[in-house]
Amino acid sequence: MAEQPVRKALPGYRWEAVELLAYKAEGAAPFKDVSRQRLFASAELGCELRYFEVAAGGHSTLERHEHVHAVMILRGRGRCLVDAQVSVIGPHDLVHIPAWCWHQFRADAGEPLGFLCMVNAERDRPQLPTEDDLAALERDPQVADFLRS
Ligand code: MN
Repeated sequence: MAEQPVRKALPGYRWEAVELLAYKAEGAAPFKDVSRQRLFASAELGCELRYFEVAAGGHSTLERHEHVHAVMILRGRGRCLVDAQVSVIGPHDLVHIPAWCWHQFRADAGEPLGFLCMVNAERDRPQLPTEDDLAALERDPQVADFLRS
């Protein structure tokens, strides 16, 4: 493969020869102020490593799917929802998101939340919550607070 063995880190959590992408197509799903960079994505790996950055006060999409995520926080602080559990997260924390668990990342005010996310190369399309799903999630007061924050 012709890819450079080393692509240097650049200021601001950027990397040489890595394009800054939109998180998702605008309007495809609810989210706020998230960018995406594909760091590693090749057929022989079977997985991809991406870097996501959620701007201060922003959040990823609340979703679930069959494929799993393995996440390491690189910068900033925030909270994540995995299944029915809300957790405070900060640099170098590891977050495992099993199949079919509702999940969302929210950045605290004041600083972006940046994280590496390893994911299956072949993956199913995420499901968004129905109104019934949301009502079920919000029965837990901690989860309701998280979703409304
Ligand atoms: Mn996901």
